[in-house]
Amino acid sequence: MQTNFTLAQLADPDTAESEKILRACVHCGFCTATCPTYVLDGNELDSPRGRIYLIKEMLEHDRPATADVVVHIDRCLSCLACMPTCPSGVHYMHLVDHARVHIENTYERPLVERVLRAVLASLLPYPQRFRLALFAALPAKPLAPLLEAIGLTRLAAMLRLAPWRGPQRPLGPQTFPAAGARKGRVALLAGCVNDVMAPQINAATIAVLTRHGIEVVLPRGVGCCGSLVHHMGRDDEALAQARANIDVWTALEGLDAIVINTSGCGTTVKDYGFMLRTDPAYAERAARISGLAKDVSEYLAALPLKPARDMPQLTVAYHSACSLQHGQRVNRQPKELLAKLGFVVKDVPDGHLCCGSAGTYNILQPNFARRLRERKVRTIEGLRPDLIAAGNIGCITQIAAGTKLPAVHTVELIDWATGGIRPPALRAS
Ligand code: SF4
Ligand code: SF4
Repeated sequence: MQTNFTLAQLADPDTAESEKILRACVHCGFCTATCPTYVLDGNELDSPRGRIYLIKEMLEHDRPATADVVVHIDRCLSCLACMPTCPSGVHYMHLVDHARVHIENTYERPLVERVLRAVLASLLPYPQRFRLALFAALPAKPLAPLLEAIGLTRLAAMLRLAPWRGPQRPLGPQTFPAAGARKGRVALLAGCVNDVMAPQINAATIAVLTRHGIEVVLPRGVGCCGSLVHHMGRDDEALAQARANIDVWTALEGLDAIVINTSGCGTTVKDYGFMLRTDPAYAERAARISGLAKDVSEYLAALPLKPARDMPQLTVAYHSACSLQHGQRVNRQPKELLAKLGFVVKDVPDGHLCCGSAGTYNILQPNFARRLRERKVRTIEGLRPDLIAAGNIGCITQIAAGTKLPAVHTVELIDWATGGIRPPALRAS
């Protein structure tokens, strides 16, 4: 695509990067077929190609974002399904990230929207605050259908996603020693939401790693990876969170990997090198940290895992989280691990389409998110599985809100099969 940025505009490294991306796009439209929002409504402006065009116009003319552009960029899930489909290698993720920052800097959202976004940005990345918010949501949860009926869809979406039981305490900083001779040492990114909503995910991760001789460190000072605010265009906050984590992780000695079991966070940590490429104090360390980041399934795939018991013959519908399959291109390892441990693994048809979770998307865009969930649940239930497995708490929560099938994290099944406890979601089934 031809672009007409001035030399002065290209002096800005973010604009220079976006120009490179825009030039790579040949407008062929292959990406439209895999874009969930285009598949739902067939609106070109809700396709990657349409959004790329809107972003080009906005950046090239140095225009403040308009309400119309914001609608279509906000509807993008950042699921990245358009990236593997693109024959020209267009790096849509970095382009839309830049567009979101431009929107945040140049567009004043309506008051309600500003307040909602500020609340999400000040609650979700902080497990203690998030825990209090979940306690407050518990008694209001039965009101979700009523709130939906009177048009308060975002509030209703938040209540639907809140768990029915009280939230748990997040894990504190500590080291979990390897069982037997130590064969490796990793830092675990505990995540902001995991411990509060589903502590069994980190428990299973720690159990399976330590059982296989890996010491697991949860260092003091690591917080949110920054992805939540990054996807809202609040770049200063995202970069501050990234820098704080980099400071802590680089001070640890002898780390083989930073293990991440929330694939949305994994995609962001793997991008720290790019996000901080122009910061001389952090660029080199950020790239090193990105190189150390591994999804838990990637790390476990290199360990000699064996089934420790006779497992019941269970059919697992494996939902490949967008951030894992498109963002990190990790698709094979989780399925191979499950199959090796005795599960019958089924791919979900149209598995490239997002379930509608996408960070805070299911709260900010409840209509698209609900329709994507319904579609996903239909395709999963059509497989008649015994359970659903996914590698991201966001997908697990989103899908579980629309089906009676138990939904678990892949690592819970791996832990169970290698000698750990049965996942809590399967105990009742
Ligand atoms: S597939 Fe790639 S090159 Fe073609 S329109 Fe989409 S982003 Fe552009
Ligand atoms: S990231 Fe997902 S929703 Fe956004 S344009 Fe690409 S495919 Fe469509």
